[in-house]
Amino acid sequence: MARRQHSAPATAGGETRTPVATLDATPQAGAMAPPPAGEAEQVQETLQRCRLIWDYALDIILFVHPDGRIAEVNQAAARAYGYSREELLTKTIYDLRVAETAPRVSVQMAQAEAEGLVFESLHRRRDGRTFPVEVSSRGATVGGQALLLSIVRDISERKQAEAERERLLAELQRRATELDTVLENTDAQLALLDRDLNFVLVNSAYASGCRHRREELIGRNHFALFPNAENQAIFERVRDSGEPYRAVEKPFEFAGQPERGVTYWNWILVPIKGTAGDVAGLLLSLVDVTPQVQARQQVQRLAEESQHRAAELEAALNAISGGLIIYGSGEEVLHMNPAAERILGVTAAAWGALSTEGRVRSLQVETADGTPLPSAQLPSARALRGEVVIGARVTVRRPDGAHRHLLSNAGPIRDDAGRLVGAVANVNDITPIIELQHLRDDILRAVSHDLRNPLAAVLGQAQLLERRLQKAGLSGPEKHSVEAIITGCQRMNTMIQDLVDAARQESGQLSLAQQVLDLGPFISDLLQRQTGVLETARIHAEAPAGLPPVSADPSRLERILVNLLSNALKYSDPGTPVTVRLALGDGWVITSIIDRGRGIAPEDLPHMFERYYRTAAAREQRREGLGLGLYITRMLVEAHGGHIWVQSELGKGSTFSFSLPIA
Ligand code: ADP
Repeated sequence: MARRQHSAPATAGGETRTPVATLDATPQAGAMAPPPAGEAEQVQETLQRCRLIWDYALDIILFVHPDGRIAEVNQAAARAYGYSREELLTKTIYDLRVAETAPRVSVQMAQAEAEGLVFESLHRRRDGRTFPVEVSSRGATVGGQALLLSIVRDISERKQAEAERERLLAELQRRATELDTVLENTDAQLALLDRDLNFVLVNSAYASGCRHRREELIGRNHFALFPNAENQAIFERVRDSGEPYRAVEKPFEFAGQPERGVTYWNWILVPIKGTAGDVAGLLLSLVDVTPQVQARQQVQRLAEESQHRAAELEAALNAISGGLIIYGSGEEVLHMNPAAERILGVTAAAWGALSTEGRVRSLQVETADGTPLPSAQLPSARALRGEVVIGARVTVRRPDGAHRHLLSNAGPIRDDAGRLVGAVANVNDITPIIELQHLRDDILRAVSHDLRNPLAAVLGQAQLLERRLQKAGLSGPEKHSVEAIITGCQRMNTMIQDLVDAARQESGQLSLAQQVLDLGPFISDLLQRQTGVLETARIHAEAPAGLPPVSADPSRLERILVNLLSNALKYSDPGTPVTVRLALGDGWVITSIIDRGRGIAPEDLPHMFERYYRTAAAREQRREGLGLGLYITRMLVEAHGGHIWVQSELGKGSTFSFSLPIA
């Protein structure tokens, strides 16, 4: 059918290019039976109206031959394509449209006849510009010819609007993605609520904060889910007043979750204005600052605790009677207790203001023997070099003029890493003790001198008497009495000698007259001389052959041996043996005095060589003695450069040993 319609105008239009569909083509109208008079006027009027519609229609109207030639156009077509009507009538539809943007006319005619056809296409103006169109086509038989009637609408604006809509949609999508990215990548828990306080949007942080899934929250009322009258009032106030609400470290306890304890939150709740300026909803931003607040609380607690400790320490330092000074690594005074201020006669401020040299100078610090102390030797200065100083004795002249004897200990303070960060020094005023010692030594010297003179007289007279008794042949009780007087005098003399030597040793006045001597023969001689004074019969000497000589002061060596032998005899049962054994050590000759007495208790052993020390047993049994013998013995051995020590077992006996250097 399409082909038949197609072929018909091809023969007809071949010779005459008469536009078949023009509305004023009266020949076609005239081809019909002439209308009756009166009716003719009506027809004219109808045609007139049609003409108006045809030319003033906004859409392009085209009649097209099946081969594409344009049969007729309206004025809108001339405007749209930029050609005159006459020019258009010389063209085909294919000249006006961009190739392949629409089906061929024959195809269109076939379809259009069936149901009418609407499609979009792209048409081209005279100036080459193209514009999108919507084409509605249908078949039309005009003057017996089958034509295609196409109503073509310029849809540029619609297309632009569509493109704009697409662009806006894409833009919206991008914004939504951006917003989501922002919402999901913030520390804050964010929620958007509508005016009725229903959740519109929440980020994952918010949802997991309330232990819900996001979709469970959306559309639900905040306070229906999480009832809280106080917070609800805040939300409503922001909504109704339009004023934002901010809170820092606002405490919050989760209902039904006591294990979470008190949590702390930074709040920002802002109204969201609608287009009319009213409040359309609320944006809530919550930041959990619990860890920070807890950390700060912990630091505060620790600070309070350490302040408390420092106060306790300060109170303790202030209460002790010893002076205590704490120095920083730069010798600055960090703490000086009142006792230290009192002992040194300076205030902490004044002491702290001085350099080490200044301190030594201002107090005229001297060593115990009276030489000025170099500032580097000050106990605190030594401790700041890492040394531990124990029992350093110095004298000072205080600003008030008083001369004091001080005993000081000092040690370094190190941090966890072992770095030296300061020093602590303690000072004790031992002036009263030193003064007492001096007093005692004075008394001792006086007493020993005053005692010795009458004693020498008694001994002299007793020895004279002994000789007279011998001449007179009296060997009975008279001789025993005289001998007892002589022994007693000699013992007393030894004791006085001990007192004098102790005093001398302490004041550094003990001097030795050393000789090279062989210990074996020296001991044999001594035992012979002491017969009658000591129970020499109980004493046995053992000496290996070829012992080297030693260097010793004979009179002091005699004192050492007499002291140890008389103790061994005194503190063991009558008749039990006492052995003197000599042995060779590395560079030394060692002399041991061994008894089988009652021994010494372990708790007494460390104190045996201390001045005036007597064992509890000796005190109980009221044995005679001053507790000076072993002290003097140690002093004398040490003056020779040797050592003395004791080994003992209760009930078995004691061994006192001393070493003397080989000459
Ligand atoms: P004293 O003048 O009292 O004897 P010493 O210094 O000689 O003073 O001795 C001190 C104390 O040591 C004595 O009181 C005594 O208890 C004890 N002592 C000394 N030697 C012995 C010993 N060989 N066996 C047991 N105890 C001893």
